[in-house]
Amino acid sequence: MKFPVRRFKGLFASVLLGAVLFSGCASGPQLLPESYLENMAAGQFAQMQQEMPVSRNPDHNAQVQRVGGRLAAVVADEMPGIEWEFVVFDDPSINAFAMPGGKVGVFSGLIELADSDDELAVVIGHELAHVQQRHANQRLSAELIRMGLGVAVAYGASRSDRIDPNLAMAAFGLGTQVGVMLPFSRHHEYEADYIGLLIMARAGYDPNAAVTFWEKMEAASDGGRVPEYLSTHPAPGNRIARLKAAIPEALREQEHAEAQAFLRERGMLGD
Ligand SMILES: [Zn+2]
Repeated sequence: MKFPVRRFKGLFASVLLGAVLFSGCASGPQLLPESYLENMAAGQFAQMQQEMPVSRNPDHNAQVQRVGGRLAAVVADEMPGIEWEFVVFDDPSINAFAMPGGKVGVFSGLIELADSDDELAVVIGHELAHVQQRHANQRLSAELIRMGLGVAVAYGASRSDRIDPNLAMAAFGLGTQVGVMLPFSRHHEYEADYIGLLIMARAGYDPNAAVTFWEKMEAASDGGRVPEYLSTHPAPGNRIARLKAAIPEALREQEHAEAQAFLRERGMLGD
């Protein structure tokens, strides 16, 4: 019997590499250069706008630009060089996504479910947090390691076309579009909920809307039609309880941000 030495070596190396990378990073490995993912995302986002109807609804567009712009301003200092772009897709799906590099898509079905700026800020804030924490990179890296491609990618395959574009799309939260499911991990979801809550509070939105938004999502799925967003963003059982517990901290962040803005307006605080 021929022993598949090469395969074994490759597997061993990727497990080893994975272990090294995992130990060096609290929340997961990032095998791919972020700039590579940003370029890939920019191309895919442009392609989506060619292939899917972009909304002409002036209210929806104005709302998403208004809320997205306010949230992006809050993270601008922490994420310089990101050119945020918010696009409304005319699609009844209850869905939203954000790609590396700050390309954000919101589907009209989700805008109709979240019928206030505060509730829309919950989901866009959550998506911004996924981008800020580079969850797509971690998710795609973990999947490549699982497929035994970790070493190849770490040694430069990322600069070739060897990464399946559908896999990348799934890592960006677009699993329902391409049929490859790669749900965010529970850890990533909690992290995006928590950081997203602080971002929306700092932007001046009511963090209590996080509770009503997720209650609406749950109610929508109880009605028999599971929102597409829940396919890639599984609702951890105690998400609402965790969000409720974080609201006092979010409100303190909000007061702090308001105080700083007050002082800055009066020239009493440096930039
Ligand atoms: Zn999420």
